[in-house]
Amino acid sequence: MSKKNTKYIFVTGGVTSSLGKGIVSASLGLLLKSRGFNVTIQKLDPYINIDPGTLNPYEHGECYVTEDGAETDLDLGHYERFLNAPTSQNNNVTTGRIYQTVIEKERKGDFLGKTVQVIPHITNEIKRRIKILAKEDYDIIITEIGGTVGDIESLPYIESVRQLKWELGENNSMVIHLTLLPYLAASGELKTKPSQHSVRQLMESGIQADVLVCRTEHEIPKDQRAKLAQFCNVPLENVIECMDADTIYQVPLELQKQKFDEVVLKELDLPVHKTADLKDWKTFLTKYKNPKKTVNIALVGKYVSLQDSYKSIVEAFIHAGAHLETEVKISWVYSGDLAADNLEKTFKEVDGILIAPGFGDRGIEGKVLAAQYARENGIPLLGICLGMQIMTIEFARNVLGMKDANSMEFDVNTSEPVISIMEDQKNVVEKGGTMRLGAWKCTLRPESKLAKIYASQDISERHRHRYEFNSEYQEVFEQNGMMTSGFNPDTKLVETIELKNHPFFVGVQYHPEYKSTVENPHPLFKELIRQCSEKKK
Ligand code: GLN
Repeated sequence: MSKKNTKYIFVTGGVTSSLGKGIVSASLGLLLKSRGFNVTIQKLDPYINIDPGTLNPYEHGECYVTEDGAETDLDLGHYERFLNAPTSQNNNVTTGRIYQTVIEKERKGDFLGKTVQVIPHITNEIKRRIKILAKEDYDIIITEIGGTVGDIESLPYIESVRQLKWELGENNSMVIHLTLLPYLAASGELKTKPSQHSVRQLMESGIQADVLVCRTEHEIPKDQRAKLAQFCNVPLENVIECMDADTIYQVPLELQKQKFDEVVLKELDLPVHKTADLKDWKTFLTKYKNPKKTVNIALVGKYVSLQDSYKSIVEAFIHAGAHLETEVKISWVYSGDLAADNLEKTFKEVDGILIAPGFGDRGIEGKVLAAQYARENGIPLLGICLGMQIMTIEFARNVLGMKDANSMEFDVNTSEPVISIMEDQKNVVEKGGTMRLGAWKCTLRPESKLAKIYASQDISERHRHRYEFNSEYQEVFEQNGMMTSGFNPDTKLVETIELKNHPFFVGVQYHPEYKSTVENPHPLFKELIRQCSEKKK
């Protein structure tokens, strides 16, 4: 166990889902970190999938990948982007994983003949997963409980929080309950009753909320605040208003204005003497809100109807755009709609294109057309993962004359498998957690554009794929102007390609978007935006 007296904050949700527990948790994390505390944020997800890696993006939004190769909930992306600190598998636990661990122990005979039950065995495993983070020497662990209080599937989590609160003792843990104050337009009022009920529901499970964070579209009038405090059993200053903001990055400042972090520190009996220094954060926000330039970037993908599917890419554009005082307008292009006769119309107004990651063959030919259009018209293009594979296929077909060129993902029998299945993936049959995942080193050739962009030859980036550039084609690509500019130093896998006679035609097998944070905008996104501004001139 840790030498420190680690404090625990639990964040629960009431009334409805999608209230933004992730953003509130990330904002609180930022406020506490800015006061010098070592903070991490964890998400407990009540679904039975072992991880979201097998979930369709339409179902659950983007799957976020950590340095250690965990496929996690997209909220972990927010945690990293706000805190500028890496998370790991320990930061995201699902019911599936909890049960899997308990059942594996049962099979090994670890329970010595006992009946294995939700209480204590499942709750013990949940508590172990929460406390495991204390070993990493954090002052404060924020644990966000997915779902809404009252859901059948979150009951074991709520019960674990109750037990932990009791075990940890006074002032060592607290519960923040995020709730909704609906506005009734007809009577012009914010209603507190649903919040009162959800707080009561928590109490039925033995938990008294310590702080209420209220999502609302309107300011909470004084008397409503007092009512909430009185009927929910919390001090008046522990009722925090969380109004809809025009950007998630505004939320920490709004919460700070109401002394949210001070309230939390008092509850945990931690010193309040400093204030959170958010100077750099404010600079970022000012730049983000007052851009001097605008660029239009087409994001070509197949999950564009649910923009959460590309969450990290969108946020990476925000970080890099703010840094360059440039507004990045994204036009969402469904690749399935692209055809030779509408490319001109689709891309006429854009300054650059990003071809998104993805799986499966739907919309592939549209992406190939987009790559061709960008190559032939000198439009800056960044291809990420599948996007890089598409650029490879396009170049092989249209420049090298290999009409049948394809990825083995879409045509196993292609005569020109320019993208092939990775050697160690050939015998993989299980789908969950078996891709090439997490951070891998990459060495960039000194003469490459990428080495200049990164200002380094040795980089490390996160991956999530099964297919790769087929190195048998490396020579012919090189001879025809497509540089294979980055390699895995150990396996020699090609990780990046870039076209020599083009302002910016860059494909990367990895996902740069996962590493972009407010504090550290990603160099590749910055360069794409710069190139788009150049083109605009
Ligand atoms: N489907 C491709 C592969 O598995 C690309 C994956 C991705 O874009 N993340 O290699």
